[in-house]
Formats: sequence, structure tokens, C-alpha cells
Amino acid sequence: MIDPGDKVMLDSLLVRLETLELELRTEIDSLKEHAKPVALDQQAVGRVSRGDALQQQSMAQANLARCEQRLEQVYHAMRHLESDDYGYCEVCDEPISLARLQAYPESRLCIKCQQNAE
Ligand SMILES: [Zn+2]
Repeated sequence: MIDPGDKVMLDSLLVRLETLELELRTEIDSLKEHAKPVALDQQAVGRVSRGDALQQQSMAQANLARCEQRLEQVYHAMRHLESDDYGYCEVCDEPISLARLQAYPESRLCIKCQQNAE
């Protein structure tokens, strides 16, 4: 899908991936704070009830798992960006559309297979 000679395209995808990596790492750091075990001490929780705090914690944990998974995809894409298999769907082997790669450079599946997977 990506012409290996198309340095401009590869560079712009790499910049996207590096930006994503930074964003995800920042988000993961802040989510880790929120995903910490809820303090039993009511003082520490302040006015937030323990139930709310637990709910926030489990939401943060779910977000954290999602961000970590996406970061893995970003690293995977960075490693494969210049290889022949980058830009091809891992399920059906069809090229992933350029528009999709520009929006989600870490994509490993085409839109159809992604929708089937969800
Ligand atoms: Zn596919």
C-alpha cells in the first residue's frame, strides 16, 4: 500500500506515530494515578463517596488497559513501518486505505476486518 519510495508519506506516518506515542504515554501516566487502589481513609477520598471512587478507579483501569494496548500497536507499527507488510490487513491481506492509515497509523486490520472483530 505504501510505496517504499514514498519517503514523505512514511515520514508523515512516523511523525503521527511518534505523536501518538507521546500522547498515550502521558495519558497512561495520568490514568495510573487514578487507577491506584482506593484509599480506605475517607479523609483521603474527600467528599467523593467510596462507591464513586471505586467506579472512577475501574473506569481508569479500563482506559489504562485500552491505552496500553494502543501503545503496543503504535510500537508495532513503528517497527514495521518500513517493512513490506505495513499497510496490509493482517486478516485478509488487503491493503488498508491510506485515509485510514493517516487517521490511525497503528492500524493492523482494514476497516472491514476491524468491524468484524468488534
Ligand atoms: Zn481485512
